[in-house]
Amino acid sequence: MKYTILLQKMNNVLGEPVRYTIMAGDEEIPVNPWIGKRIRMDFAGYECLSCGSPLPVFAQGVCKKCFFTIPEMGPWIIHPELCQAHLDIEDRNLEYEKSVQLAPHIVYLAKTSHIKVGVTRKTQVPFRWIDQGADEAIAVLETPNRYLAGKAEVFLKQYFTDKTSWQQMLKGIRTKKELAAEKERLRTFLPGEFIPYWLADEKITRISYPVSAHPAKIKSINIAKQQHFEGLLTGIKGQYLIFEGGQVFNVRNQSGSIVEWEVV
Ligand SMILES: [Zn+2]
Repeated sequence: MKYTILLQKMNNVLGEPVRYTIMAGDEEIPVNPWIGKRIRMDFAGYECLSCGSPLPVFAQGVCKKCFFTIPEMGPWIIHPELCQAHLDIEDRNLEYEKSVQLAPHIVYLAKTSHIKVGVTRKTQVPFRWIDQGADEAIAVLETPNRYLAGKAEVFLKQYFTDKTSWQQMLKGIRTKKELAAEKERLRTFLPGEFIPYWLADEKITRISYPVSAHPAKIKSINIAKQQHFEGLLTGIKGQYLIFEGGQVFNVRNQSGSIVEWEVV
């Protein structure tokens, strides 16, 4: 099967295991059935996911001009504590910023090699956790906007990392710490201003990925640099395709690249 794919992040559905799909034009293609097959990829250029320009991707699938101008790339995306829509203050487009920032957000703990703290829009649960390759996750706070969730995250970064170690995640290394106990511990030092948003629900979401064996060594594939890659797909975790020999392809990170795929 041959496809021309303008890369953007894979969609996922929580299942046993997670089911992944990728868009090729208007067609949504299941990726799990590619496991066990050889894939050939050829780089075929760039297309900015926002303006369609063939200029090289600057970051997050968009060209440099779009990265610094479109509201979807505002700095408050990465740093939720910078949100100001709740004060009626515009960053790039107040209407857009209100629609995203003034919506319920979840502060969560997720487990991979470490317990990490993170923030996501409520509608992105559990997709965000799956994108990160978390083995388990638990919601801690539900806030009415992104700013408050970001403020809580900044505080909690004193106690938990906010980064996923992607190499360790792909190697299947996981901490022995328990999420329920860490959430209880967190409550003991949570400032009073966040207590109204505490979620008593102790439900832990457990996520299993279509990975037969975790690789011991990891090597990243950069299709724009390499131009061509060929390998046997052995699994999918987070936003990574895992190939025989521990070569890994981060689909989301290569958003905006056009790639010709052949699955044989
Ligand atoms: Zn652009």
